[in-house]
Amino acid sequence: MEIKDLEKKLKITKKSAWELNKENIENIFEFAEEYKKFLDFAKTERKAFDYILNIAKEHGFSDYKNSNEKFIVSNRGKSLALVKLGKNSIENGIKFIVSHIDSPRLDLKQNPLFEDVGVGLLRTHYYGGIKKYHWVSIPLSLYGTFIKENGEKLEIVIGEDDNDPVFTIADLLPHLARKTQGEKKVFEAIPGEKLVVMFGGIPLTNEDDEIKEAIKLNILKILNEKYNLVEEDFLSAEVEIVPCFKARDVGIDRSFIGAYGQDDRVCAFTSLKAFFDSLNSDDTIVALFADKEEIGSDGNTGAKARFLEYVVSKILEKKFENPSEFLLKEVLFNSRAVSADVNGAVNPVYQDVHEKQNAAIIGYGVCVTKFTGSGGKYSANDAHAEFMGWIRKILNKNNVVWQTGELGKVDEGGGGTVAKFLAEYGMDVIDIGTALLGMHSPFEISSKADVYETYKAYKAFYNEN
Ligand code: MN
Ligand code: MN
Repeated sequence: MEIKDLEKKLKITKKSAWELNKENIENIFEFAEEYKKFLDFAKTERKAFDYILNIAKEHGFSDYKNSNEKFIVSNRGKSLALVKLGKNSIENGIKFIVSHIDSPRLDLKQNPLFEDVGVGLLRTHYYGGIKKYHWVSIPLSLYGTFIKENGEKLEIVIGEDDNDPVFTIADLLPHLARKTQGEKKVFEAIPGEKLVVMFGGIPLTNEDDEIKEAIKLNILKILNEKYNLVEEDFLSAEVEIVPCFKARDVGIDRSFIGAYGQDDRVCAFTSLKAFFDSLNSDDTIVALFADKEEIGSDGNTGAKARFLEYVVSKILEKKFENPSEFLLKEVLFNSRAVSADVNGAVNPVYQDVHEKQNAAIIGYGVCVTKFTGSGGKYSANDAHAEFMGWIRKILNKNNVVWQTGELGKVDEGGGGTVAKFLAEYGMDVIDIGTALLGMHSPFEISSKADVYETYKAYKAFYNEN
């Protein structure tokens, strides 16, 4: 055998997904256009929920009570599952792809509004793992869900329309920042309490009365006239502050997408597309979109709330009269799941936090992450060789361009996904998703080729046995 042939036979060759996909380029770019529209619409978990719910209805899905074959199970407007029953025996398990639709952001505190030194301001508490210095000096928009005292729900978006005002956090000028910021560690230079959003500046005055906090009062007047709000409504509200800019192509060749919230809406979108393209699968398939992943999956809309188990109960109710608790456990135990979440690609200018032989390269295909967690594999889901072997087989069979990745060097840091909470049911779980640059920043970067390969990988998972 020629040495060249031997090399081809024996060695792994990592290749660019662009290089391997030359005939597919049109599909890749077309797919990216729809994905960008999703990103622009779905900047919060509630908006992503609305998008998914609407598109599911367009595909003939309805509430589980009203449909036998394909139905929706929702969880409080923030998390949901799409279910398609298959003809294969349910005892052999269900195929789940679980992504999350929440992203790091700033939440308003319950008493957010005040004024000081000529500015009306909003206090925030950040949500998820952010680098606080990313959030100053950028234009921000506001998404609010307010429950009035009479139970009425008000949904407000300000900053997304080009004619809307936007908001921002004023940073300190460099001239005066030497001690206050410059001498501190970068993570401490902007404390959480300084993430205070500019919200107004005109006082409400008349000649006779002295009005205290007149800017705040004017803001409340505007909120009342435009949205029928009073200050107490902030107590029963969820108001999220997110970057206001839209998804854009990045690079002269338009190879990348830059946008807020790609962790994890890239996996949400690709799994949604794959799900609708797999409705003929013989297996029962589920696309589940979780909330609260960015704060550890706690809370009743997060993966720890056993929503997945609830969804399986609904499925069993369709198939059997009085399904037993044992059957539920059996089905969960025999199921297979993809934890659909992003990984960090090798950053070209900070390569030394990665161990490059085992890190994902952007543009080199979807990333399969066998284990998550950190130093010593603590808090990890670690997919076993047999399941990894099956994944390898189905990805290769479907010509998916894929690579393996781990989140940084051993002992460098780490992170988790929903994988370990799915593993608690005894099912087989592995992480598969897109590798990003600038992950958890307001402008995360994905490769269009990787986004497309992620979709192909999820489709293979739903359809192969
Ligand atoms: Mn994620
Ligand atoms: Mn994340």
